[in-house]
Amino acid sequence: MPAEDLTIDTRLKRLFEQEFGDRVSFAEPLSKYTSLRVGGPADALLRPQSSEQFQRIVRLCLEESVPLTVLGGGFNTLVRDGGIRGVVIRTHGLRTLELQEDRIVAEAGVTHSTLAKFSLEHGLSGLEFAVGIPGTIGGWLKMNAGIPSREMKDVVAAIEYLKPHDGSEVRKLREDLRFRYRELQAPESALLLRAEFLIEMDDPSAIRARQQELLAARKSSQPVDQLSCGSVFTNPPGDHAGRLIEAAGLKGAVHGGAQISELHANFIVNRGQAHASDVLALIARAREAVDQQFQIELVPEVHVMGEDHAPKKA
Ligand SMILES: Cc1cc2nc3c(=O)[nH]c(=O)nc-3n(C[C@H](O)[C@H](O)[C@H](O)COP(=O)(O)OP(=O)(O)OC[C@H]3O[C@@H](n4cnc5c(N)ncnc54)[C@H](O)[C@@H]3O)c2cc1C
Repeated sequence: MPAEDLTIDTRLKRLFEQEFGDRVSFAEPLSKYTSLRVGGPADALLRPQSSEQFQRIVRLCLEESVPLTVLGGGFNTLVRDGGIRGVVIRTHGLRTLELQEDRIVAEAGVTHSTLAKFSLEHGLSGLEFAVGIPGTIGGWLKMNAGIPSREMKDVVAAIEYLKPHDGSEVRKLREDLRFRYRELQAPESALLLRAEFLIEMDDPSAIRARQQELLAARKSSQPVDQLSCGSVFTNPPGDHAGRLIEAAGLKGAVHGGAQISELHANFIVNRGQAHASDVLALIARAREAVDQQFQIELVPEVHVMGEDHAPKKA
């Protein structure tokens, strides 16, 4: 394939290098940036350090008709072995975190651990439920991350985001947002820059106790020390995906380097050398077995991105 047919041709490569210097890399393996540690390369990986840079990248991609994908912590993402065409934005450089009156204001790339530490240091209560949900603020909101008793929708006060079709910045209050189970439904396709969360003041030792209790419960029921993407499927109404997969006899099933966890059947773990294709094969097997035995269609929670095969070079 001639260079000009690739999504990032030589001219565009130079343009990105001129504008973003060492914040851009090409053919960057995404396995380094996802918690499953599988997946092929991004044509270009960009790491903005500010929301202005984020906006500039979005506008450049629109002008140049280059596809754009956003990656937060990669804790709920499965990148296929052929990688992702176009530009992938990794949000980790957007890490401003502030306390403003009754709310925490956090940029999209702030991580769960930074936020947990900040809450503890300042005696801020409200987000303890999310202490063990690995990821970034952008991923949390996009996924409406949570536990059975509480989700992001219960604590978010407002979000700021870029519209994907023109890169303009918008702020929306909680009453204008629409969430459902593990999904921000509206605004659809929002490129999240920051979020505000309602909090209350509390004794740091009480906050720590609540955080520790939740972390301990997680440790005993999930393979937190192994490489995974968390729950692979959403729970069907009135049931649990893990229970169904286990009842279908697939707990511990292996394909290549991937395995359905022996601790929790809704987790697939990378035993070291897995490819995305191994994980995808187990996902297909679990869906087929649960459908055949219980007539229930499992819906993936994990976001599967990219292509099975890399484009052939000339
Ligand atoms: C061990 C383990 C336990 C887990 N437990 C839970 C749990 O209890 N509850 C739960 O809900 N989840 C859980 N998860 C899943 C995961 O932690 C959450 O889905 C989390 O919200 C992912 O955040 P992230 O930043 O890693 O998102 P990513 O995986 O990077 O991205 C997820 C999606 O959000 C999009 N996205 C990310 N940032 C932005 C942005 N700034 N703008 C627009 N789109 C964006 C991505 O494009 C992708 O579609 C668990 C995962 C693991 C590995």
